Amino acid sequence: MCSRCRPTFPPASANRPHNAGRRAVLRAAGAWGLAAGAPAWAQVDVGDASALRKLVPAETLENAATQQYAQLLAQARAQRALAPPQHPQLLRLRAIAQRLIPFTARWNPRAAHWRWEVNLIGSKQINALCMPGGKIAFYTGILEQLKLSDDEVAMVMGHEMAHALREHARERIAKNQATNLGLRLGAQLLGLGDLGNLAAGLGGQLLTLQFSRSDESDADLVGLELAARAGYAPEASVSLWTKMGQATGQRQAGMAFLSTHPSGPARIRELERNAPRVRGLYEQALGQRKNQNDS
Ligand SMILES: [Zn+2]
Repeated sequence: MCSRCRPTFPPASANRPHNAGRRAVLRAAGAWGLAAGAPAWAQVDVGDASALRKLVPAETLENAATQQYAQLLAQARAQRALAPPQHPQLLRLRAIAQRLIPFTARWNPRAAHWRWEVNLIGSKQINALCMPGGKIAFYTGILEQLKLSDDEVAMVMGHEMAHALREHARERIAKNQATNLGLRLGAQLLGLGDLGNLAAGLGGQLLTLQFSRSDESDADLVGLELAARAGYAPEASVSLWTKMGQATGQRQAGMAFLSTHPSGPARIRELERNAPRVRGLYEQALGQRKNQNDS
């Protein structure tokens, strides 16, 4: 979970058409070639990614994120808060990531070339993030205070990966820049290069960006499907957000995150509605794992 997420949470998909017709059109259009769009094979109810994000080059943002991530780790290391490679919880996180990563390129072909990293930072904060380019950090607070099961960790990680895969930060920065520069008055006055250069200085924003409620819903559902394909129980998405809600009620440490990322009935209802859609994927993944273990 990221501290960048906004509080309000009606389901983003509520106003979106979800029908076989849309899927047929996507298929006809060769949806496999669309980066970060809503693929035809998707089981969850999400729409297309915003075209506006293309104003900021993906590579520029990924490079900025890599630098920002390195700074985050350096800071943690200086405070002796960066988990060493053999830390059991870090090994656990990395094992879960390894199961999720093979399914990420379906959502964004660039992910096949990302250099994924997973690190654990010792902090009471209830927080986790995945920056553009696949740079993941968990804070010990989210694991310990919420006593997350592997399935619930996979839901958190899937949610954060989904923000990166669906390029929510890229979209948000593009929108911010468009507003700041008055691009609405005439995008043609500025070449894309101008935005690209600006993005290079934006790495610092990546940790403080606030996502919209529709980004949040999108990340919940894409994360749910990623986790199900990797063999994690869909119901864990509901138990995760129930725990988040309880932690908010008990005003546990790390409230800054929880206050910007609340668990309300609408969020839980949306996950309950979508969990059955990915149950088949989950059972299929379980079957495959069982066969692998038996052989
Ligand atoms: Zn989020």
